[in-house]
Amino acid sequence: DVPGQAPEMFCIDIDISARKAAEKEARYLAFYDALTGLPNRRLLADRLQQVMASSARTGHHAAVLFVDIDNFKTLNDTRGHEVGDRLLVEIGQRLRASLREQDTVARLGGDEFVLVLQNLSEDTTEAAAQVRTIGELILEQVRLPCHLSGQEHHFTASIGATLLRQPQPTTDEVLKQADLAMYRAKDAGRNTLRFFDPDMQEAINQCAQLETEMHEGLRLEQFLLLYQPQVDSTGRVTGAEALLRWQRPDHGLVSPALFIPLAEETGLILPLGQWALETAMFQQARWRVDPRRELTESLLLEDVDGVIATMRALKAHGVGFSLDDFGTGYSSLSYLKRLPLDQIKIDQGFVRDVMLDPRDAAIAHTIIALAHMLGLAVIAEGVETTAHYQFLLEHGCRAFQGYLFGRPEPLEAFEQRVREGGAPTSG
Ligand code: GH3
Ligand code: MG
Repeated sequence: DVPGQAPEMFCIDIDISARKAAEKEARYLAFYDALTGLPNRRLLADRLQQVMASSARTGHHAAVLFVDIDNFKTLNDTRGHEVGDRLLVEIGQRLRASLREQDTVARLGGDEFVLVLQNLSEDTTEAAAQVRTIGELILEQVRLPCHLSGQEHHFTASIGATLLRQPQPTTDEVLKQADLAMYRAKDAGRNTLRFFDPDMQEAINQCAQLETEMHEGLRLEQFLLLYQPQVDSTGRVTGAEALLRWQRPDHGLVSPALFIPLAEETGLILPLGQWALETAMFQQARWRVDPRRELTESLLLEDVDGVIATMRALKAHGVGFSLDDFGTGYSSLSYLKRLPLDQIKIDQGFVRDVMLDPRDAAIAHTIIALAHMLGLAVIAEGVETTAHYQFLLEHGCRAFQGYLFGRPEPLEAFEQRVREGGAPTSG
């Protein structure tokens, strides 16, 4: 400061925290439901708009679910509005806890809640199945007993669902669709979920039917393993890939492509996987072959650390691991680094055109070299011609699987083949 000169600036300090708090409160009331603290209709419309835009951009489906408590008026009438309010708060919390952070749970008013689910599958049928799974979970959550001022109550809800598809309707129309579907759920007797789209409802009914039959199938031992030979460079059988099939009544032998996604969705994959693993390992023990288990990358994506821990535990029991579909999924190279693998399998997608497409040839060649450098075994699948076999052999591959050597076949046929063509000793 220059002496004798007045300072040019004064600092005025006024406490505005009270006004800020009031503004915050007003903002909150404008966008949130005062009773449950959930987003209100206004914020819902906003979020829905964002989700619709992002869904159109990414191709991932989004869905809107309308949840309405069944016979809620009875509670109001018999126990009073305050108890009714407490139920609404409780249900709001259960809904919030049932969904992922990124999903929206809003209260429209009354006993109506709206859920917005995003980042569902890009595949419509799969997305519908995801919505059904979440819907059932919510129905289950609502059915859990409620303790309201010293008394236990039981409630159910009706859910209407609509999957956002291209071209997208307006947010208002989407809400109307879900609302309409909710009324269909009420008409169907309540405590259930209905889709707006009749085709989707039909697909979902079929899914539900398939799921019931899969449970039955597991109980009635309708699942079976086929064995496809794996051979060494001389064509001698050294092992087998066990392939799961379902002998579904009236449908013949069903490929896993048709039931595994649903099994994964519904959790049925656990007992099914256990059955397949036990059966295959029992066989391998009989043959005294190195047990080896295949992992597909889709499985790995979910919980890599958990998968690594499980693999280590199984390895201690002498189980080896082969990575299926290598190079067709995501971040495979980092898996090679982290997972305790024994073998990589060259996907048939690279083998098929190995003679025609120089890029496939380069990839197959590179996978073989990579496996060698990492000290892993490598096997090629989908080997259908001697040309495939020759190419792979020349590039250092020593294990093969494909129609050239045998198709997946029942146990007896496989054992017959081995008796004729050499014993399946450890390879
Ligand atoms: P339904 O099975 O057809 O859904 O019948 P319902 O008895 O649940 O009736 P409905 O869903 O048509 O209506 C919901 C009722 O919720 C209407 C109203 O009396 C009551 N309600 C609306 N807002 C509130 C609120 O903030 N608190 C309480 N306690 N009740 C409310
Ligand atoms: Mg109701």
